[in-house]
Amino acid sequence: MVGVLVSGHASMTSRAETQKPLVVILMGPPGAGKGTHAGPLSGQLGIPHISTGDLFRENIRAETPLGKQAKGFMDKGNLVPDELVLDMLFDRVARVDCKGGYILDGFPRTIPQAKALDIRLADKVQLVVLNFNLPDAAIIERVTGRIACKDCGRPFHKKFDPPKNESICDACGGKLIQRDDDKEEIIRKRLEVYRAQTEPLIHYYAQQKEVLKEIDSRKEKAQVFHDVMEALPPIHAAAVR
Ligand SMILES: [Zn+2]
Repeated sequence: MVGVLVSGHASMTSRAETQKPLVVILMGPPGAGKGTHAGPLSGQLGIPHISTGDLFRENIRAETPLGKQAKGFMDKGNLVPDELVLDMLFDRVARVDCKGGYILDGFPRTIPQAKALDIRLADKVQLVVLNFNLPDAAIIERVTGRIACKDCGRPFHKKFDPPKNESICDACGGKLIQRDDDKEEIIRKRLEVYRAQTEPLIHYYAQQKEVLKEIDSRKEKAQVFHDVMEALPPIHAAAVR
């Protein structure tokens, strides 16, 4: 990936910079909107959304060499080393659909992971970290209100998108249920883990110039998406204006 050198041009550096693949890291507590915006963002930018959790499961299911290595650690009750997760990630992003960049979700989660990622990315990409902010009380209201049809999967929200009948699906008449993951005590626990483990990463990225972008998730969904696009480097944001 070599930038075109425009001799004598004042904006040479920034031109070269914007020609690098764009790597967007999605951060923020569970329920703050990462999942909502990942798909549309991928569509707008024309770059894939890579969930490292999914990638991991795919490698294990397909019994790839990396998947087998990972399973070996897990079968012994050990954590999968960060380097192995990175091997899976870089195996994935070597594919042609990631040539213009990619959106990362679920990784890095810790400072050692972020440092290891930085070493592999070096300065070959343009990195943007989007940090979705939402106060805990709002997260709990959002998450604990989620219900979905047991039969057709249609999602509802007790407060923001209520079904006509409290426990029955408008679409098919199926029963509406809450996932165990969305119960209040579970979400409180996940928030606690997030604050302890992942929040230090925000400070890590804040120290890198122009990388960290704060997104206020209290706003309306469409406004949040607009803010996300605005937070991206101009050439990428301009592509969709
Ligand atoms: Zn239904």
